[in-house]
Amino acid sequence: MCGSRWARWATAGLKSQVGIRPFIHVDCSRITEVLGQHVFGMDKNSRNAVMAEAISRVILHEWVHIASQNPAHAREGIAKPSFSVEELVPDFPQIISRGR
Ligand SMILES: [Zn+2]
Repeated sequence: MCGSRWARWATAGLKSQVGIRPFIHVDCSRITEVLGQHVFGMDKNSRNAVMAEAISRVILHEWVHIASQNPAHAREGIAKPSFSVEELVPDFPQIISRGR
């Protein structure tokens, strides 16, 4: 459902005659590719924490499309059309300090 960068990470249910259907597909391998260089050297628990936070934000973004039945994006917040790694995983500094 998403344009720009989100399209590579996740999609909400395709728009149909009944609106945006409540299905979300998350491309975890794509998220891993994006996060890969940033988690290099982290222990397994920290990598899992980073991945969990990233997947959660991607799903929340897609859920907003489903709940609002609106494919549009906002300028700020979880409905932005794209996120930097720092925006996708805001707790990154805390996770890094625990896991290296
Ligand atoms: Zn979107």
